[in-house]
Amino acid sequence: MCSILEGDNLTPVVKSKKIVRICMKCDNKPIVIIRIDDAFCRDCFWNYCIHKFRSTFGRTHIVKHKEKVLLAYSGGHGSTALLHMVIDGLSERCHKKIGFIPGIVYINEGATLNLTAEENKAKCDEIVSVMEKSGLPYFVSSLENALNLMPDGEVDDDGLSRDYSRMDLNAEQSLRQRLAAFKTLTAKMEFIKILRHKLILDIARRNGYNKVMTGETAMNLSIQILSNIAQGKGAHISIDTGFTDERDSKIMILRPMREFSSKEVAMYNHFYGMEPVTVPNLSTKATRNSSIHQLTESFVTGLQAEFPSTVSTIFRTGSKMQLTTNQRKTNADTCSLCKGPLDTSVGDASALNATQLSMKLSRRQLGVDARSATNPDAGVCCGEVAGCNSNLNTKTEQACCGEGDGSCRSNTNTEELTLDMLNDALCYGCRLLVRDMNDFKQLPRTITDEIYQKKRRQQMRAEIDEFLLSDNDAEDS
Ligand SMILES: [Zn+2]
Ligand SMILES: [Zn+2]
Repeated sequence: MCSILEGDNLTPVVKSKKIVRICMKCDNKPIVIIRIDDAFCRDCFWNYCIHKFRSTFGRTHIVKHKEKVLLAYSGGHGSTALLHMVIDGLSERCHKKIGFIPGIVYINEGATLNLTAEENKAKCDEIVSVMEKSGLPYFVSSLENALNLMPDGEVDDDGLSRDYSRMDLNAEQSLRQRLAAFKTLTAKMEFIKILRHKLILDIARRNGYNKVMTGETAMNLSIQILSNIAQGKGAHISIDTGFTDERDSKIMILRPMREFSSKEVAMYNHFYGMEPVTVPNLSTKATRNSSIHQLTESFVTGLQAEFPSTVSTIFRTGSKMQLTTNQRKTNADTCSLCKGPLDTSVGDASALNATQLSMKLSRRQLGVDARSATNPDAGVCCGEVAGCNSNLNTKTEQACCGEGDGSCRSNTNTEELTLDMLNDALCYGCRLLVRDMNDFKQLPRTITDEIYQKKRRQQMRAEIDEFLLSDNDAEDS
């Protein structure tokens, strides 16, 4: 195994008076020391990184020859290294060239911050110049476009605009309003992550990419593992941090940088002249206690400084967690928000049921029945052309379009979205997320539509259930 651990020493060679080091592969002057005493020269460190990068997906044969792979670029250290390892892997310098066809995607999240149009454009220009220099095809989209995605299979090219400077103020405002509905920074960041994920998959889908590569390092994933547990998303650790994320039936997400330590990535970027672009986000300049993610990050990095095997311990433990066969089997039953498997069908005597019962009781005591929570603006357009949600609850009776598979959209929204209905469609972690909202009706249309559709399918299934053969019946006959 050629993987090295986060905790291993990786320091630039300091000129020692006594020991004269040479590169462990050739006899050249080393520039970096990996593990305890493995010195590498410039060329051999490059080979080491590229080999390690290739081996993460090479040994599993997951990426096929000439397959289109979309690289999710964020400007950070991990995705900068990812982008350049792919470019290096395509170059003549690489003995065994990379066989897939890469493209790049960048999601502009300026609307989530209070950046002026000029500031936002300046940041995007910086990112675009990096992508342009790569010579690879690239896509730029803005996070607010995730609010108005077309349903699966339908194509709407307007949503994907390369011209990020042309800001859609309505959509931006709509995104800010939805973010404001979340009470905590943790929930806001989680919601942004869900939207980003949706948008990237949508861009991949519409442009013929079956795989998406992201740049999380072992350090990023270790933080993710712990913060997942803290947020009640323990059941999703394997899809959130594993090498592959197959929660979308068509597009697979790969994390080829997961074996790299943050130091290795930083060294790679430093030695080969790759400058990461600092893009601010909601947690920039936030205090240590502002969100679960921030707190976990400072906990892990602090511990790592004292105990160098911290990250590798968390990381290796996390990678042992797998979805149970049962969870994989019932994959059709996924959370409408995060698309992870539903982890909520647990026995009666469970912590989840106890919490739900006590929540129900306290709601009743307060006289707040979820069913009676109505949208005060119902029926009156809120003025948002792009994302008007006001008519969500109007009882418009239209004729069915004839689609019998539950996807009929003619009667969309005839029933009011209740908290119970919403909860039924969400995993445990996402239920907590929604609990952090002032008004759950601020969830984007793409998500609520799906919940209605799911509900209709369930109803339809219940109606025809007695006519269906069960697996046992089928075996008997
Ligand atoms: Zn060497
Ligand atoms: Zn979920």
